[in-house]
Amino acid sequence: MELRVFFYITVITALAGTHCVSSENSDTAGSSAITVSSDFDSGSIDTLWESKPDFLTGWPRHRKQKSSSDDQYYWFYFKLSNVAGKNITIQLDSLAGIYRGGPHLIYTAGTQPVYSYDQKNWQRIHDVQYNAKQHSLTFRNVFTEDTVWIAYAHPFSYTQGLELIHSVEGNQFLTIETLGKTPEQRDIHLLTVTDTTVPDAGKKIVFITTLQHAGEYCGGYVVEGLLRFLLSDDEKAAMARKTTVYKIIPMMNPDGIFHGITRFNGDLEDLNQEWDDDFTDMLHLPVEPEVACVKKWIREWKSTGKSIDLALDIHSQGQEGSMNLLHTPEGMLDDLTPHLDKYWPVKYIPMEFSGSLNDCLVKEFYIPSGTFEIPQSKIREEAYLTTDDYYTYGKGIALGITDYFLQGSGRWKQ
Ligand SMILES: [Zn+2]
Repeated sequence: MELRVFFYITVITALAGTHCVSSENSDTAGSSAITVSSDFDSGSIDTLWESKPDFLTGWPRHRKQKSSSDDQYYWFYFKLSNVAGKNITIQLDSLAGIYRGGPHLIYTAGTQPVYSYDQKNWQRIHDVQYNAKQHSLTFRNVFTEDTVWIAYAHPFSYTQGLELIHSVEGNQFLTIETLGKTPEQRDIHLLTVTDTTVPDAGKKIVFITTLQHAGEYCGGYVVEGLLRFLLSDDEKAAMARKTTVYKIIPMMNPDGIFHGITRFNGDLEDLNQEWDDDFTDMLHLPVEPEVACVKKWIREWKSTGKSIDLALDIHSQGQEGSMNLLHTPEGMLDDLTPHLDKYWPVKYIPMEFSGSLNDCLVKEFYIPSGTFEIPQSKIREEAYLTTDDYYTYGKGIALGITDYFLQGSGRWKQ
């Protein structure tokens, strides 16, 4: 532990016995002191306090993976009160971790956090400085309302996910199942979208998953865009429903989402390293329940002779990336990318990750599979991404897949 960090923790512990500290304990005490909280759905900050007037300092919460030395840290989402009219500066330190055994430095000079006065409409904070040597991000903004929520990127809370599911419940083209439960007893939902007046025989089966990794919240918006388009009156949506059965898991990691944990589930495991645990990697048993229940469903689905023709798992590189990427094993689904790229920018880069859902679907179930990595910052040098962009990506996934199956056959066969 760095000496400076130890000093902070000692001071904080002495002052308040909690990590989110109101500046009422400091020299800036008074009716206008800024207060900090993260005790809400998807909220997270380790330590943050007003160390001098209108200047807050602290660091995000680091989490160690249960089965490795990996240290994930980048997600933060907190609420400030008593900020109206103030030019607030926030400095976050300790922005360095470990991923798959190596250094993980996801913050850059282009990292622009978001803020909202209602947790729905988000704007970027543009006045940002990143100190790469200190692993420290400093950002400033004048807030017009007294309470503001600030996050690493657009949050997609567990409640938001449930509200999405409830908002489409009862739609004639949708069925909702529960495949299993998380360690904290949250449901893993499977949504099926198709036109049931058309027999499933001859339809393509497409399996879409997202939010294995909490913190990669843009995936929630992409799936929302996909789902709302597929259930819409658009004639291309009707075509998709007639020719395709969509199987969608909108939240693979509800516990991690709810607790605002970077990457891991509530058990502090990386779900996307768990998928081989019961077929090649016998060291890590038992499989996390989120993964086990989905694998059970896939096995049962396949055992009845049904296929899955295409599987896509949606992730994010955080604000580090500057392009939407589709990763697959070499030579698989490269002919899908041009169809997707007609509707939203996607670059195909063959890449495999051991233990991932993608890896498992290909090697254990022989399903053509890919992993999307979608930035939470911007594409190339264009404007910073908004939730509307993510909705457009979701619609673009459906449109591209329909074109792919209608016009292309795919070169990789089971
Ligand atoms: Zn991920």
